[in-house]
Amino acid sequence: MRTPEENIQLANMLFPEVKETPEDIEKKYPKRELKKGEMVLRFAPSPTGFLHIGSVFVSLIDRILTNQKGGTFILRIEDTDKTREVEGGINMIVKGLEGFGISFDEGMTGDDKSKGEYGPYLQSKRLDIYKVYAKDMIVNGNAYPCFITEEELGEIRKKQEEMGVRTGYYGNWAKWRNASLEEIQQKLNNGEKFAIRLYSTGNMENSFKMQDLIKGNVTLRENDVDTILLKSDGYPTYHFAHPIDDTLMGITLVTRADEWFASLPLHVELFKKLGFELPQYCHFSPLQKLDNEGKSRRKLSKRKDPEADVQYYIDHGYPKEGVKEYLLNVANSNFYDWKVQNPGKISTGFVLKLEKFNKSGALFDIVKLDDMCKDYIATLTAQQVYDMALEWAEVYNKNIAELLKNNREYCINIFNIEREGNKIRKDLVKFEDISTQLDIFFDELLEKEPVDDISEKVSKEKQVEILKEYIQVYDTNDDQTQWFEKVKVLASKLGYEKVGDVAMVIRVALTHRTKSPDLYQVMKVMGKEKVMQRLEKYIG
Ligand code: GLU
Repeated sequence: MRTPEENIQLANMLFPEVKETPEDIEKKYPKRELKKGEMVLRFAPSPTGFLHIGSVFVSLIDRILTNQKGGTFILRIEDTDKTREVEGGINMIVKGLEGFGISFDEGMTGDDKSKGEYGPYLQSKRLDIYKVYAKDMIVNGNAYPCFITEEELGEIRKKQEEMGVRTGYYGNWAKWRNASLEEIQQKLNNGEKFAIRLYSTGNMENSFKMQDLIKGNVTLRENDVDTILLKSDGYPTYHFAHPIDDTLMGITLVTRADEWFASLPLHVELFKKLGFELPQYCHFSPLQKLDNEGKSRRKLSKRKDPEADVQYYIDHGYPKEGVKEYLLNVANSNFYDWKVQNPGKISTGFVLKLEKFNKSGALFDIVKLDDMCKDYIATLTAQQVYDMALEWAEVYNKNIAELLKNNREYCINIFNIEREGNKIRKDLVKFEDISTQLDIFFDELLEKEPVDDISEKVSKEKQVEILKEYIQVYDTNDDQTQWFEKVKVLASKLGYEKVGDVAMVIRVALTHRTKSPDLYQVMKVMGKEKVMQRLEKYIG
């Protein structure tokens, strides 16, 4: 063990340039004044160029919680692993979440922009802060420089395995814990690389209790590993940055992925040694997916599942509100009932409860997501469908965008088919699908030949006969009932038992398909000229 004087000497040997103390730093970040119940949350992704749908899930929840309880939601970017970083990665996160209506009160607003008084919000801009705390940890005997090499670590691991003990850098295995100042000075003189490690005083035999707002009361074992706090390149590890950043930014509840739960004992020790008050925690299990024909579950994977990538939803034109509603249902399964009881209210009016989260991990089911998006689009007006579809098409399908812009009224009428009344058509999952609604209405999109061949049911001559008769009685002034009566009369006149057979022939002539939206409405929207033109062309 070193004496307090030796600790101070060591701290100055390692960080002669650091003059500030934690007190100096903390003065710059005054404690936030919060009203009762208010929360300060943060979303803290790394700018890897990939936004997982799980990130939308967690940040949506954070946003809703801060909206509900009052408080602040911060975007902090954790860019301490330079090997994983991509250019423009921050913008991508900001824009990606913005697309889902998720905004931040403080934090990064772009690659090199931010707002708020508790920054910098980019970890690579906080290196001086981490150094101050690292130096202070050394002064207090809570940390030390470690010069161990990869090879030496490998040897330690080998020995531990041979002896059948737990592997890792802890206790007596942590050979640089109590190195003499001379030994350290010599290494420094040689210019050797070192990391700053925690001097753990925990004991694996001891357990303690904590509360996780999702998992409930949990019992954990103390940490005893001398984890790296500052890497040899001067960057902090996640473990060291977490207590410092979350404390200085005044975070009240740490919402993060389950993968960090195992490190909680280490974080508890670090908060204590740094003299910080512990925030509350909740750990979200990863979104899962059924695998192996539904027999097992696995994590929704960036590598295997296209739907794990937020870009997937953007590219295909998923309605963001529909996706959000689905995610809320994954979070709290009573959301769906709430939605049914509160039609028309936006999804953020729902009261989200952390204790209602699925503790063992929620299932992410793209089929259900599609269904909720279908339901959502069905609640929109034709005008809204038009606007959202155009916004998507302007970026992802220029031809469709032109078509929409040049035929505004016509397209809105098309989207309005079966959109009113009590039987609403639900066939749009995403805006990419609008072409399937449009193509029967535009000659340039309609397939040249009928897609469905019905000549086995009704011969071509008979089809022609039906259509010729139909042209005689077709009148655009007919209402739906009058029109249907006419088709019925026509069917009986020509000897068809089923009116459907006659309607089918008209439908195929007009749309080249046996399935289409309500035929009467289709004709109304097409207008007389196009209807006649299609019928005559089909007759030949
Ligand atoms: N940068 C960490 C991650 O992306 C953040 C974890 C946290 O929210 O504390 O996993």
